[in-house]
Amino acid sequence: MKPSIKRVCLDMDDVLNNFTMHALSYVTELDLAPDDWSKYSPWWGFDIVRAANELLGWPWDFAGGYTQEEFWTRVTEKVWESAPVSKLCSKLIHMCFYYFDPSQVCILTAPRPEAGCIEGKKTWVKKHMPKSLQRNVIYTEVKHLLACQNSLLIDDSDKNVDRFRLHGGRAILVPRPWNSNHMVRDYDEYVLAKLESYI
Ligand SMILES: [Mg+2]
Repeated sequence: MKPSIKRVCLDMDDVLNNFTMHALSYVTELDLAPDDWSKYSPWWGFDIVRAANELLGWPWDFAGGYTQEEFWTRVTEKVWESAPVSKLCSKLIHMCFYYFDPSQVCILTAPRPEAGCIEGKKTWVKKHMPKSLQRNVIYTEVKHLLACQNSLLIDDSDKNVDRFRLHGGRAILVPRPWNSNHMVRDYDEYVLAKLESYI
């Protein structure tokens, strides 16, 4: 018998919001729609800096391209706090609140080390999350520490999902061009159907 889920951990970036395309648009100054993932090549994987350089038409070995440090210092507090809410966000929260008490749901997000990241994320939560979730936020890189047979992670990172499963948790990989579910087209439906199957 499959274990019933008692805790749901929702990733923030690129699950509840559309951070990646928003940050790319901000740093490159290209007009990129936050949910138009067709502009992001699966070849770039999780390398957002390579994505920025190649979107600007710069070859991967172009010396004038953004370095990791240059890219991330341009991602200021303002960028974090202004990440657009994803379409998936309201559907996910609605479904979570239908099946779970808010005390069983948390937002689980890994902060970048640069100044302004956590502050920007805090403002984002205050602006966009229901009151009952605003204090259910955990900032950590080690998401797998929350894994157990009754917990479910919903995340767009292969690494986070694999580790969470390895530590005994359940996980849903949100399809995005940078992860191994990049071939899935019905992004939101895929996630919601998976969530339903775990309840
Ligand atoms: Mg994420």
